[in-house]
Amino acid sequence: MPRKKQETKTCRICNETKQINKFEKDKRVTGQRTTRCQSCKYRSQDRATYAYRKLHERAKAEPGRKVEVTLAQVKVLFAAYDGKCAYCNREEEPNGSHHHLEHIIPRSAGGRDHISNLTISCPDCNMKKGTKPVVDYFYAKEQFQDENFAQLAHFVAFTSGQPVSEVLKEMVDAHIEQCRRKIER
Ligand SMILES: [Zn+2]
Ligand SMILES: [Zn+2]
Repeated sequence: MPRKKQETKTCRICNETKQINKFEKDKRVTGQRTTRCQSCKYRSQDRATYAYRKLHERAKAEPGRKVEVTLAQVKVLFAAYDGKCAYCNREEEPNGSHHHLEHIIPRSAGGRDHISNLTISCPDCNMKKGTKPVVDYFYAKEQFQDENFAQLAHFVAFTSGQPVSEVLKEMVDAHIEQCRRKIER
């Protein structure tokens, strides 16, 4: 009798074909496996942990600053974006610089260290966005495209428990306020 063929699957991230047990069970569908292999998942979690620690290090330098985000939430954020920059989709280079946890509403404008105000950003986008409201960075059209903007707004709505329309309105209002300040200057 021929030996039963081991079922395999190709990981969407590392593109390697591995045995099915190297893929976790899909949480949504019984009998299904995820499309990302376990080692790619762990790599993403390591990066999330690194970004989380860096946020704490920066926060420690400011007395009274309260980090409200948990490591588990940062891991979900990294999983949701596949560890890519939320603005430009850039991946972290294996041995290069790390992505940052970026404040969507800048700290200088009262933005909190809360999951609903944090996203993943490559160092380049982080620098270019700076303290701009998120819509200002979107209109600057560096690499921040419609689809990324929609994704960002939905993630904020989900994590803040606000309707997407309200999240978008607040983002646009911050942009209008910024324009007004520029004119008055
Ligand atoms: Zn993989
Ligand atoms: Zn980027």
